[in-house]
Amino acid sequence: MKLEQLFSNFSRARPFETMKWELFSKCAIKEILKTHAPHLNTRAYMAAAEIFPFRVNPYVVEKLIDWSNTPNDPMFKLTFPQPEMVTPGQLSSVLEAMDRKERKEALQKAAAEHSNRGPRNALVAAAEKVRGNFNPHPAGQKTQNVPKVDGHPLEGIQHKYRETMLFFPAEGQFCHTWCTYCFRWPQFTSVGSAQQFKSKNPERLRDYIAAHPNLQDVLFTGGDPMVMTTEQIRRYIDPILHNAGTDHLNTIRFGTKSLAYWPYRFLDDKDAKPTLKYFEDIIKSGKHVSIQAHFTHPRELETAEVQEAMRLIHMTGANIRTQSPVIRGINDSADVWAKMWKMQVNLGATPYYMFIERDTGAKDYFSLPLARAHEIYTTAKSRLAGTARHARGPSMSAEPGKIAINGVIDIPDKGKYFILEFLQARNPAWIGKPFLAEFSPTATWINELTPAFGAERFFYEDEFDTIKANDAQSSGQMNWDGPPCGSK
Ligand code: SF4
Repeated sequence: MKLEQLFSNFSRARPFETMKWELFSKCAIKEILKTHAPHLNTRAYMAAAEIFPFRVNPYVVEKLIDWSNTPNDPMFKLTFPQPEMVTPGQLSSVLEAMDRKERKEALQKAAAEHSNRGPRNALVAAAEKVRGNFNPHPAGQKTQNVPKVDGHPLEGIQHKYRETMLFFPAEGQFCHTWCTYCFRWPQFTSVGSAQQFKSKNPERLRDYIAAHPNLQDVLFTGGDPMVMTTEQIRRYIDPILHNAGTDHLNTIRFGTKSLAYWPYRFLDDKDAKPTLKYFEDIIKSGKHVSIQAHFTHPRELETAEVQEAMRLIHMTGANIRTQSPVIRGINDSADVWAKMWKMQVNLGATPYYMFIERDTGAKDYFSLPLARAHEIYTTAKSRLAGTARHARGPSMSAEPGKIAINGVIDIPDKGKYFILEFLQARNPAWIGKPFLAEFSPTATWINELTPAFGAERFFYEDEFDTIKANDAQSSGQMNWDGPPCGSK
């Protein structure tokens, strides 16, 4: 009996409409806004999309965005670059470059000239100048996470934590729609093009895993690896299945927002069934498959399409774990998180992480104070049953590791402090040791916090300096079975 038949009695599927894949890039903004939101200043959104990557598809436009609520609609803010993501001066510089380009084009047309490279280049330069302010590769990704073999950096791999590596398949470095707050935005713009993470080399992946017996997880990431065909996915993964050298690898993870942005990837796309079948094959080989699903807002979970896609994935034996940053103007309320986590559990997924918006891109526009993020997290959790309280966080993916705000404590005669803890760390020995920072109602990142009780540095900082000074290896490659942290 086929798996689908076996589970059909338990189906919660609702009928869904099928949809033809189409990609709308920034050239389509004018038409989309004219049709759905004529009340908006189209040129300002076009200018914002010159600076930040933009791409949507019909599912996002027709099923996720509530156009009657624009410009405040969370799904609109999530997918259409907002003019307020840059300063008025920065926006004006791009608008002026757009004006110049259009005037020149009009003149060229009149004079029947053929080249418009000059003004186009000026617009690109204006946009790049603005982008240059946005810290493209935060948390030492380029300098400290890239592993080295014989002194040579390995392209397309990050190995920050001993047990987990990230692999960036070249064909997966775009997404079904781009998020305005994306922390990987340089992957999609010319700011990042010279230093994009990507690899086309399955042997490199296999050999690297085989050479690092501490590795338990590989995360395929991007972009979004689910934009790849099954054949492309197989090319990277087949060599690490049924292979004695990579037996120690436990879990294959796919970091993806395809469930939220294009659930047809698992429904009736040409490649849907082969992909689901391949998940089964991986699991049969003895590895666990974890879909690290990026869901930002409960609306992404409400359609019949996404619910059916999640059901089909679960039928393969794969797990779905969910994660998202907490973002101002999009999901910055306990109501939103409680609803989202509750729906996820109802659909069989496990809430996994709540992240703090990273220090890249338009952070000033999206970020919340750590204190507020912690309040949202605890309030949302307090409204849920234990089965929906699994998400860890709110967590900063910072240079030394993933640091969670575990609480706020008021110590009599001393003051108020954040209780912090590493959920992941460059040195595994840092994990699970609570440490304190002076409470701040406005701080948005670890570098804005001060160690408690007048200490000059946090407990890990001296050792972190030593790790940074080691340019022969990434922290994930280092031998952490030596003396414990803090020992001389
Ligand atoms: S899906 Fe992920 S990688 Fe793609 S744009 Fe959104 S945040 Fe960035």
